[in-house]
Amino acid sequence: MNLIEVKNLKKYFVEKDGLIKKNIKEVKAVDDVSFYIKKGETLGLVGESGCGKSTLGRTLIRLYDVTDGEIIFDGVDISKNKEKDLKQFRKRVQTIFQDPYASLNPNMTARDIIKEPLDIHTKLSNAQKNEVAYEMLEKVGLSREHADRYPHEFSGGQRQRIGIARALSVKPDFIFCDEPISALDVSIQAQVINLLDDLKDEFKITYLFIAHDLSMVRYISDRVCVMYLGSIVEIGNSSDIYENPRHPYTKALLSSIPSIYSSVKEEILEGDVPSPINPPSGCKFRTRCKYAEKICEEQAPKAKDLGDNHLVYCHMV
Ligand code: SF4
Ligand code: MG
Repeated sequence: MNLIEVKNLKKYFVEKDGLIKKNIKEVKAVDDVSFYIKKGETLGLVGESGCGKSTLGRTLIRLYDVTDGEIIFDGVDISKNKEKDLKQFRKRVQTIFQDPYASLNPNMTARDIIKEPLDIHTKLSNAQKNEVAYEMLEKVGLSREHADRYPHEFSGGQRQRIGIARALSVKPDFIFCDEPISALDVSIQAQVINLLDDLKDEFKITYLFIAHDLSMVRYISDRVCVMYLGSIVEIGNSSDIYENPRHPYTKALLSSIPSIYSSVKEEILEGDVPSPINPPSGCKFRTRCKYAEKICEEQAPKAKDLGDNHLVYCHMV
């Protein structure tokens, strides 16, 4: 059963160049993207910086207005809802941010940080909220002794644990993890990943998970979605994507992971991601693809189903 279905989602930003109307540019950050996330699974989202991963996640959880398309959450299209009609959705969907230093209010205690979503979304008494805060602290490997400390009194890893406790406090169905380990020491990244994985099972949460570390994404994800310049180029089960990548971009991306993925031949990814203001016609990857032919310039490739919901968007597959 799907918790989320995204259909032809577009998020364009308007960039004004001075005050002259004709200089308005459209940035196609998310450009006609469709996929689903099953209840209880983790969908990993990968691609170079500037490919639209964060924008896709943020649009999906309605931190942004939707330019076009549908976001079906648990059977209901929430893509056009006004803020006042998003209350239920806001309670069921939480975010864990990249930077626990920036995302925790330095003037609030851990207790109050964890209680904040409960203040917004529930009518629990103060005593009840305190109980939840204690419980969540323990769930993330801290204790009630930590409740009255301020963010600066914690290590980076502990701060991210508080960010996780805050997200969990309202027992959400879905958490958008936007690079939750990128700002942490390598030595504690695995601990936080394992914690997120355990909590997912315990609380029956569904994750959309962005990380730069492709090995971590493989470890935590049931399925993986590869994005390039606002579009999906390949999506499928983690094992299919990592062991048998079919899109030239996915191959190049994965070949940067050392040795263990030696089944993928080394392919060098040259050049930068082109601007999303004026993306290449046809296949957006064609300016960096060594297999590009005439058709790649003329037509955007459609999804090809390779079986088991492994979709790839390439004319040559
Ligand atoms: Fe390369 Fe053409 Fe495939 Fe795009 S459609 S990835 S340009 S071969
Ligand atoms: Mg990002």
